[in-house]
Amino acid sequence: MIKRFSFSIHGKDGAARTGVVHTARGDIRTPAFMPVGTAATVKAMMPESVRATGADILLGNTYHLMLRPGAERMARLGGLHAFMNWDRPILTDSGGFQVMSLTSLRKLTEKGVEFRSHVDGSKHMLSPERSMEIQRLLGSDIVMCFDECPALPADRTRIEESMQLSMRWAERSKEAFGDRPGHALFGIQQGGLEQDLRGESAATLQKIGFDGYAIGGLAVGEGQEAMFGVLDYAPGQLPQDKPRYLMGVGKPDDIVGAVQRGVDMFDCVLPSRSGRTGQALTRRGAINIKNARHAEDPRPLDPDCTCPACTNYSRAYLHHVFKAQEIISSMLLTWHNLHYYQELMAGLRGAIAAGALDAFVAEFHAQRAAGDFEPV
Ligand SMILES: [Zn+2]
Repeated sequence: MIKRFSFSIHGKDGAARTGVVHTARGDIRTPAFMPVGTAATVKAMMPESVRATGADILLGNTYHLMLRPGAERMARLGGLHAFMNWDRPILTDSGGFQVMSLTSLRKLTEKGVEFRSHVDGSKHMLSPERSMEIQRLLGSDIVMCFDECPALPADRTRIEESMQLSMRWAERSKEAFGDRPGHALFGIQQGGLEQDLRGESAATLQKIGFDGYAIGGLAVGEGQEAMFGVLDYAPGQLPQDKPRYLMGVGKPDDIVGAVQRGVDMFDCVLPSRSGRTGQALTRRGAINIKNARHAEDPRPLDPDCTCPACTNYSRAYLHHVFKAQEIISSMLLTWHNLHYYQELMAGLRGAIAAGALDAFVAEFHAQRAAGDFEPV
C-alpha cells in the first residue's frame, strides 16, 4: 500500500510550527530548506553529499528539465529520482515562473504560455494541463500548480487580473492532476502586497482543496520589509493543518523571519550559487573568500562547523583554489553553505520544539552582528 501524503505538527512557538511532512519517499522535517537541483543536479554536489548536509528533499525545475533532457525522455529513463540518483522526495515547480523570467517572445493567453526555449529557440507551450503532465512524467512527489506571477511593483489591476488567472489555472491544475496516492499537489497564493487579494486567493484555493499551500509572488524585488509585511498575515489566511511553502526564499535572515511568521518550507539557489562565486554563508554573516585577507589565514571558515570544508581545509586553501578557478572551490563552498542552511533549519526546529524560538532568533542576530570570527 502506498503511503499517503500527510503533515503532522509536533510543536508550536508563537506562529512558528515544527513537524513532519510524510511522503511515499520519506519524511521531510519542517521547517525545511530544499536545495535547488535545477538541471537534475545540485551544482557541484553529489546527491549523497547533499543528503549528508541534512537535506530531506530537493527541488527540481520543470522549465529546465522539459527543455533538456525533456520530460518524455526522462520518463523513459525511469523518472527524475532514478536519473539523478536521489531516492528521497522531490518537489518540482510548475515552470510558470521561469518561463516568465527566462524566455523572450512569449505569448500569455487564457490557455497558457507559448514561448521559445532559451537553449535552442525551439517553440513550446506550457499550460496547467501540460505542466501537470510534465511533473507526472518527472515523477515529482510534490507538484506545484501552474500559475502566473507578475514582477513587483505592479499596479493593483494587473495584480488582481493575474491572481484571478492563477486561480482559474489552479482549478485546471487540480483537475489535470487527478487522484495520485502518495503524491501531493500544492496550490499557490498570489495577490502581491494586497491583503484582500491574498485573502481572496487563499479562500479560492481552499475551496478547490490542496495538500499544501505556497505563498507565491514574493522575493521578486519588493524587499524584506514588504515581504515580512505580507507574511504578518498571509500564513494565517492559509489552513493551519497543511504545510506552507514560501517559494524562492531566501537569505538566512529572510528564512528566520518567515519561520517566526508560520512558514514551513523554503527553497533558494542562494547557498549553492554563492558557493560558486566565492561567498561563504556563516553564523557570523557572509564571508568573501576572494578577499586578500584570507590568503595566509590557516583557520577554517567557521571553527565550529563540521562540514568537510571547515573540518579539513584552511581559509588560505579555499582562497587559493577560488583564485586558481579550481573546481574543488565550488564543491567545498557549496557544501559548507548547504550545511550551514541545514544546521540553521535544525536549530529552528529544535528551538520551536523547546518553546525557545525568541532566544534562538536573538542569538542568531547577535552572532551576525558580531561580524567575522576574530583571529585567536
Ligand atoms: Zn563549514
